[in-house]
Amino acid sequence: MRLTIENLSFRYGGREVLHEISFTAEEGELLAILGPNGVGKTTLFKCVMGLERPCGGRILADGTDLSALSPRARAHRVALIPQVHPLSFRYSVFDMVLMGTSHSLSPLALPGERERAAARNALERLGISSLADRPFDRLSGGEQQLVFVARALAQQAKVLLMDEPTASLDYGNRLQVLGAARDLARDGYTVLLSTHDPQHALWFADRALALHQGRILAYGAPREVVTADLLQQLYGRRIALIDTEQGPVVVPQEGD
Ligand code: ADP
Repeated sequence: MRLTIENLSFRYGGREVLHEISFTAEEGELLAILGPNGVGKTTLFKCVMGLERPCGGRILADGTDLSALSPRARAHRVALIPQVHPLSFRYSVFDMVLMGTSHSLSPLALPGERERAAARNALERLGISSLADRPFDRLSGGEQQLVFVARALAQQAKVLLMDEPTASLDYGNRLQVLGAARDLARDGYTVLLSTHDPQHALWFADRALALHQGRILAYGAPREVVTADLLQQLYGRRIALIDTEQGPVVVPQEGD
């Protein structure tokens, strides 16, 4: 499913956070969104989910304006995968994932075999079936993040919005979650992933988009977007890109 953002503007009170943003995330692509804290990455995702109302522009999924859809119809197209917080959810992993199917049920209906199968498939897809009966709040951060991804898959959404999914994870878990995101894109999901690490965009993304002061500063192939100049503009730091056989590597410069 293709996600198109057209001239999207958003304000909190009088303060404009996003100014006429336009871009497209294609089906089967992982789009990394870069930008310093407070630039509007989460706000953008909330607009796509219908949790915030833009003051201008449109958001289309395969040409359908999301604002015209019911919450249930929207949930079948887009899912938000939140950051892992040290919150305690006293549910099993299976029940957490099963909650992703609640949009497909009428208000008072309980999940049936179809929904349970969707939850099982989602856990299997992410290779975490063995966690199904474990309490969610006893898992590692990386495992919890994968459970959130499984919940989005059980929701049957084809566009996945991952809001800094690696922020609180150790290095190994970061690579695991990013690898899972890339595999989902390979399988035809459209994945938008915000990250603080430009190296993530270089390693895992098909395209990258840099947000700065409410506008798109750069958008395209990660190697073209992630340049020393762009990183200086975004983060105010001197950073070099060193070419290696495995692709460019981001290296902070002395004195910064
Ligand atoms: P990011 O995800 O890139 O860190 P956010 O989308 O969370 O950025 O925030 C964008 C800007 O909007 C920030 O300046 C933030 O302080 C502000 N902001 C976020 N949420 C609210 C809110 N509910 N009310 C007012 N301002 C907000």
